[in-house]
Amino acid sequence: MTLPEMTVFSELESNVRGYCRSWPTVFDTASGSWLRDETGREYLDFFAGAGALNYGHNHPVLKTALLDYIARDGITHGLDMSTTAKRELLETLRDKLLRPRGLDYKVQFPGPTGANAVEAALKLARKVTGRTEILNFTNAFHGMTLGALSVTGNAAKRAGAGVPLQHATSMPFDGYLSGAEDESFEWMERVLDDTSSGLDSPAAVIVETVQGEGGVNLAGVEWLRKLSALCSAREILLIVDDVQMGCGRTGPFFSFEIAGITPDIVTLSKSIGGYGLPMALVLFKPELDVWAPGEHNGTFRGNNPAFVTATAALNHFWSDDSLEIATLAKGERIERALAGMIADNEGLSARGRGLVQGVVFDDASLASKVCAAAFQRGLLVETAGPEDEVVKLLPPLTISDADLDHGLEVLAASMDVVCGGGC
Ligand code: PMP
Repeated sequence: MTLPEMTVFSELESNVRGYCRSWPTVFDTASGSWLRDETGREYLDFFAGAGALNYGHNHPVLKTALLDYIARDGITHGLDMSTTAKRELLETLRDKLLRPRGLDYKVQFPGPTGANAVEAALKLARKVTGRTEILNFTNAFHGMTLGALSVTGNAAKRAGAGVPLQHATSMPFDGYLSGAEDESFEWMERVLDDTSSGLDSPAAVIVETVQGEGGVNLAGVEWLRKLSALCSAREILLIVDDVQMGCGRTGPFFSFEIAGITPDIVTLSKSIGGYGLPMALVLFKPELDVWAPGEHNGTFRGNNPAFVTATAALNHFWSDDSLEIATLAKGERIERALAGMIADNEGLSARGRGLVQGVVFDDASLASKVCAAAFQRGLLVETAGPEDEVVKLLPPLTISDADLDHGLEVLAASMDVVCGGGC
């Protein structure tokens, strides 16, 4: 039965709507790690806007910067005009993010979504190399526009394209073949070096260091290093899609930092705006900056309020390594709690890095049931993976230990109810 306050959503909003089906209530306000619905009921957020809210909801420091900017009539919409807000962001990116990490990247502002950034990255790689093919990975997720969809694995999402998705070839991600790192890698090496493999020389490889939508699949540090070396030896550009795993989700600001590699191109979106405001970036090595002026454009490249909150977030959270250290500690806290749940329930395993953690259910159907039970108990958490077999924990990085423990207790209780000791 549809409650009266829900009617307009089901009557008017397209059938394409998704999350509102898993969480059938009307959310109204939020702060930190908590959302409130119209009835005043509170929900702890282990979802964080699918990675767009790494610093939680309405963080006071970011909110103050945004309110001040609005109050002084700062530019709201700026296409790619030079503005004070954009200058401050570029200077902060250079001084807080790039230089301290020895990264020499040019910065492109594409449209504000992750898919916008991925499209720009693919176009640039093709323009630089003059090649058309892209290598992507099994279970990858890069977005819903045609180029991004062509390098995305999920069959149902791909089917939505309505046209053939071309010029991309899927390679086995780390561990895809029998869980052995070397086998998956050897396949890629072999087909690239065999002139008779049927694979045309690719412009780029696009990879997530942890596949978020694909089920919290981790690329090992060694695998990433080998991938980077393989690309540079063959003059293939390496694109790291850090849309979900960047901005500190796995600990360091860039998820590839643990491997000590420098991708040719990096895509960022989701939490780069800091406050949940739409914004995306493409970062690339200066020698790749072959764009002609205006060759790639978009009306919403200049979301200046997002530049303001992005700058405030970089200054507040990334002036030292305290957030990275706290994220890794909280990740370990989750891992310890998950180890207990695995011990208590048959048919479960876990994997993750920093504050992206996945609980894998042997019986895929149980993961969604656990998420539904968690919602009833006031916890927002979603599934991932090809069969929705993984419960993906993605809390704000700013969550307190007490809230984290509370959410983990709710998760454990939800498992007890759904699985009764045998998941
Ligand atoms: N790349 C990755 C790794 C993502 O996780 C996502 C979104 N889940 C995207 C790209 C697409 O971003 P958007 O939904 O903002 O287009």
